[in-house]
Amino acid sequence: MNKIEMKTPLVEMDGDEMTRILWKMIKDDLLEPFIDLKTEYYDLGLEHRNATDDQVTVDSAEATKKYGVAVKCATITPNAARMEEYDLKEMWKSPNGTIRAILDGTVFRAPIVVKGIEPCVKNWKKPITIARHAYGDVYKGTEMKIPGAGKVELVYTAEDGTVAKELVHNFTGAGIVQGQHNISSSIESFARSCFNYALDIKQDLWFATKDTISKKYDHTFKDIFQEIFDSEYKEKFEAAGITYFYTLIDDAVARVMKSEGGYIWACKNYDGDVMSDMISSAFGSLAMMTSVLVSPQGYYEYEAAHGTVQRHYYKYLKGEETSTNSVATIFAWTGALRKRGELDQIPELCDFADKLEKACISTIESGKMTKDLALITTLENPTVLNSEEFIKAVRGTLEEML
Ligand code: NAP
Ligand code: MG
Repeated sequence: MNKIEMKTPLVEMDGDEMTRILWKMIKDDLLEPFIDLKTEYYDLGLEHRNATDDQVTVDSAEATKKYGVAVKCATITPNAARMEEYDLKEMWKSPNGTIRAILDGTVFRAPIVVKGIEPCVKNWKKPITIARHAYGDVYKGTEMKIPGAGKVELVYTAEDGTVAKELVHNFTGAGIVQGQHNISSSIESFARSCFNYALDIKQDLWFATKDTISKKYDHTFKDIFQEIFDSEYKEKFEAAGITYFYTLIDDAVARVMKSEGGYIWACKNYDGDVMSDMISSAFGSLAMMTSVLVSPQGYYEYEAAHGTVQRHYYKYLKGEETSTNSVATIFAWTGALRKRGELDQIPELCDFADKLEKACISTIESGKMTKDLALITTLENPTVLNSEEFIKAVRGTLEEML
């Protein structure tokens, strides 16, 4: 069989711990036998980030701007324990945060739906994708404890010295206060990333805030989305047969619970934090969540939503057997390969990505799965495979399909 040729390299961002082990197995067993894989390799493993003073992370993000599509392995975000474990020069920032800041992107997370892993919400038949705005609000808030009676005001001093004030509250006793902000350009990028992604995957886009109560703050989000939609996306949405739908956040929650899924739900920063955990746990497993960072300029970075699965890695290092689920990492590769195939017009590459995803799904639906899924499946007598056996089983299914 001839290997599928690629034109443009993918930006490959290698990572840490158990997912680094799976990364190599996936390339060796599921990709390189079938594709003449072209990648520009960046080692984002913590040792190399430390050795390069984290320059490698910046370089990999810049390469994503150059080539357009990246695939990323899970990486360690250092904390005090990691400082010691890896003898780090500094507590390097989260690579995902660094990359997101450079690409100015929005993260879209969607569950991989398979028969036998049933959502807790019985009418959810299709995935629900959460798009979370990643800047500002309570995450960049300023807070104060108010010790006793006194006046709190918001004060804006313009560059020319003009002052505008707004009373927050006239305290008669102790209390608390919080200041939040957001930036129009960030909300605009968020809106464009959402509209572009909806067109990309041809799904409806929902957006919800509390604009009836927050008549300036949340209402600005609503207005920016609507203005950009009307002026740049309305016709494209009509042509694609999809809709943009705005509603109040509480109405959205009620509708989501009664829906059958199959749309993108755009959320403000806090709502996205809370709702993405609700959606992912209700769909069954963190190991089955995909994640893609989409920039308003149309750069894409695909990854799994889970971390480096540290606990399994320590077992692996001791020579013990692991049963780590590689599906979300495989889907990061298929997402990136399919996007590369679309951009470079290589239908065989898109077709291969589709087949590899189907191979993962049918392997699980045939009862062969890793332990995390075996614990929650509704299929009777599942066969529990170890990390490597599962990848080999997917290879077997894939070869039958090709
Ligand atoms: P984690 O790697 O997501 O794993 C937490 C637990 O979830 C695991 O111990 C395992 O449960 C289960 N799990 C997650 N993925 C699984 C998979 N593919 N197959 C089977 N089980 C899976 O989170 P963590 O242990 O809190 O974080 C480890 C490291 O990952 C941290 O250093 C963190 O900074 C990093 N992290 C990176 C990213 C990223 O790069 N995007 C995201 C999150 C965290 P059991 O142990 O019960 O089997
Ligand atoms: Mg959260």
